[in-house]
Amino acid sequence: MRPDQIPVRGTLTPQKPLDSLTWLRVGGPADWLFQPADAEDLAGFLAALDPAIPVFPMGVGSNLIVRDGGIEGVVIRLGRGFNAIEIGADVTAGAAALDAHVARKAADAGRDLTFLRTIPGAIGGAVRMNAGCYGSYVADHLIEITAIDRQGARHVLPAAMLDLGYRHSSLPAGMVITSARFRAAAADPAMLLARMDDQLARRDASQPTKDRSAGSTFRNPAGHSSTGQPDDTHELKAWSVIDTAGLRGAKLGSAQMSPKHPNFLINTGQASARELEALGEEVRKRVLQAHGISLQWEIMRVGREGPPAELPPLELTPGAARTE
Ligand SMILES: Cc1cc2nc3c(=O)[nH]c(=O)nc-3n(C[C@H](O)[C@H](O)[C@H](O)COP(=O)(O)OP(=O)(O)OC[C@H]3O[C@@H](n4cnc5c(N)ncnc54)[C@H](O)[C@@H]3O)c2cc1C
Repeated sequence: MRPDQIPVRGTLTPQKPLDSLTWLRVGGPADWLFQPADAEDLAGFLAALDPAIPVFPMGVGSNLIVRDGGIEGVVIRLGRGFNAIEIGADVTAGAAALDAHVARKAADAGRDLTFLRTIPGAIGGAVRMNAGCYGSYVADHLIEITAIDRQGARHVLPAAMLDLGYRHSSLPAGMVITSARFRAAAADPAMLLARMDDQLARRDASQPTKDRSAGSTFRNPAGHSSTGQPDDTHELKAWSVIDTAGLRGAKLGSAQMSPKHPNFLINTGQASARELEALGEEVRKRVLQAHGISLQWEIMRVGREGPPAELPPLELTPGAARTE
């Protein structure tokens, strides 16, 4: 069936602009945006949906450039029916629960998921991206997820089936995570709250947390791990190779490599997705020329190109200072 022929309890919106739903504030319309009321509503919708229509689950858009032509098919965005957080010996969180909220609630109950505190996404996106920082990742804590597949069937998948690696998971396309269960060590709430405050301060000191960004633009180059494991520590930092290629603060229209942290691509005004992506590609080209390193995007770029338009020229900021 076509999306508008399926009876749902949630909200189905045709031609829904996605710019307001992404952290970079760019993106054309989804053909359809579906916000299911709960897991049953989602399962019924997917079971009835014409299998030829693509489905894209979206979190809070903190790791996405949605292109200017928008997204074909149905974008699924989970909301209130998916944000419950239950804390016992383990922590179970709905896929729409914000990472920061989960970390705070867990800490209040004396459970350590502090690494989630400064990641601006929601739990579904955190699992999909194996999000992490300050040495801890989803992979270190995840027990299992509950997800609904493209045919509307519910699955409980153990973490081991997701092949979690550096900013990577192998979740089948179109499968929507509805909740995740984490193991979280018991600890003193006051200590956990202090640790989270410290992490927030560290972020504010080194990253443009007040700007519109999608976090780290490129993965740290693989093959430079201290242990030889590509998914382990990455001692060669993407920000450093961008910096030494002279690209800190580089601008293309309203798209800019942050002067504060050169691996953060920011929208300083009315940048289009095309400008942001073109600046990122220019950075990749110049880093390859300068260092022989092929940077890989960490930000996911999704959707259709917008109409062709002339791009503004690249402006470089000579002599910008390092902060790290
Ligand atoms: C200022 C800033 C700092 C950041 N710092 C970090 C950091 O320290 N560490 C880090 O790992 N990341 C960081 N990020 C990136 C980003 O926050 C994470 O990747 C986050 O996990 C993305 O979650 P999201 O809900 O925004 O997902 P989205 O960006 O909306 O989507 C990302 C991917 O997840 C998929 N997805 C989302 N929800 C679901 C679901 N329910 N089911 C199936 N698939 C789903 C989407 O299809 C897409 O493929 C940062 C971003 C910003 C803006």
